[in-house]
Amino acid sequence: MSDVSMDTIVSLCKRRGFIFQGSEIYGGVGSIWDYGPLGVELKRNVKAAWWKSVVHRRDDIEGLDAAILMNPSVWKASGHVDGFTDPLVDCKSCKKRFRADHLKGDSDIKKCSGCGAQINLKENPPRLFNLMLKTFLGPLEDSSSVTYLRPETAQGIFVNFMNVLNSRSRKLPFGIAQIGKSFRNEITPGNFTFRTREFEQMEIEYFVTPEDADDFYKRWVETRFNWYLELGVTKDKLQLRPHGENELAHYAKACTDIEYLFPFGWSELEGIANRGDFDLKQHAEHSGKDLTYFDQTRQQHYLPYVIEPSGGVDRATLAFLVDAYREEEVKGSKRAVLSLHKDLAPYKIAVLPLLKKNPEIVEMAKKICSSLKEDFVVKYDDTASIGKLYRRQDEIGTLYCVTIDVQSLEDKQVTIRDRDTMEQERISVDSLQKYLKEKLL
Ligand code: ATP
Repeated sequence: MSDVSMDTIVSLCKRRGFIFQGSEIYGGVGSIWDYGPLGVELKRNVKAAWWKSVVHRRDDIEGLDAAILMNPSVWKASGHVDGFTDPLVDCKSCKKRFRADHLKGDSDIKKCSGCGAQINLKENPPRLFNLMLKTFLGPLEDSSSVTYLRPETAQGIFVNFMNVLNSRSRKLPFGIAQIGKSFRNEITPGNFTFRTREFEQMEIEYFVTPEDADDFYKRWVETRFNWYLELGVTKDKLQLRPHGENELAHYAKACTDIEYLFPFGWSELEGIANRGDFDLKQHAEHSGKDLTYFDQTRQQHYLPYVIEPSGGVDRATLAFLVDAYREEEVKGSKRAVLSLHKDLAPYKIAVLPLLKKNPEIVEMAKKICSSLKEDFVVKYDDTASIGKLYRRQDEIGTLYCVTIDVQSLEDKQVTIRDRDTMEQERISVDSLQKYLKEKLL
């Protein structure tokens, strides 16, 4: 188990403005969370790091931003209308609802994870519950206007396969990447932002020739695993879990989950699947459009296979938060620090005037702050004593604190304090920009 408790993380998130309960003043709303000033920066950084790694740093992947609302036929073709269901059971003793596949026990007799009573699935069979959130397009609320909030971003990619292929003159192998909101009416949401009803996904559909699929599948599992490591996640808390035969969807050739050891146990951050040609075949059939790829070398038309690395932005963000949090003893008092990777930290630098009542110090601090803002996310803070400000910045992961004091007015030097080592050094204002660029960019 991880060392930090979820309570500590949830309370830090609220106290410091990372994550708030959705519609909190109305008592909240089932498993919906709002990202506050710090959370929105962190989540943007997670998405930017992903985009940089899979789109900007590569020549073989194109980006996309497809609409959330799609033609309802998409969801028929993808199998979501008929098959995107969870088995729902009610415990007769405590009246709580559960996903039958999440309960412990054997195939027929399960143990209620609320009150411990037995749930007999033969006498009390699970009902299949579709997870898609329905809505209506246009003024009439009848069956002809029903559509869904997308439960995954992937289908927006599949329906644009030909558009991207043709507009970008692509040849296999190539991929399409997308980040966006998805919605699922989860039966048993929980564990803070781990399982919610509105969340963001970052997905790639990577199109390959059928013969190359297995090789690319293995490469993507490795590439995606390494991404979490490169962003500082503790190696011992990350694992790969290949799916067993009986766990695979009927069309999937293989699937591996990347799991993180959260305080509530090992849980999925991302899945990498070899989906064969299932999705393009389904859309070709339902739309009546030819979605085959013409392979010029072979002079052949065929449907590409697809490797899908599909991750959750909120789950990755939560894992980065949990993993970065530590508490230390410093000179007899407790210091909480978020040792986030430099690319993820919400604020890179805090500029702190030692005496906020001294107008010259304030002026100098504000000048330094605005010039640093050209290159970094910087915060000016004079709302507490310097000791408190340092602790506060540590707790939100700010990498460097730049302090301006009386001496700075004379020698034009400032103190730079490092978040992780807490070491301080004096450097000249003129070399500040260069110093920080070397550390942060
Ligand atoms: P789980 O088994 O945990 O429900 P899943 O296997 O159904 O997840 P996928 O459909 O493979 O999930 O979705 C890809 C990724 O999207 C997941 O790895 C996860 O990071 C994220 N995700 C899926 N459902 C949710 C949710 N309800 N809340 C937050 N993130 C989610």
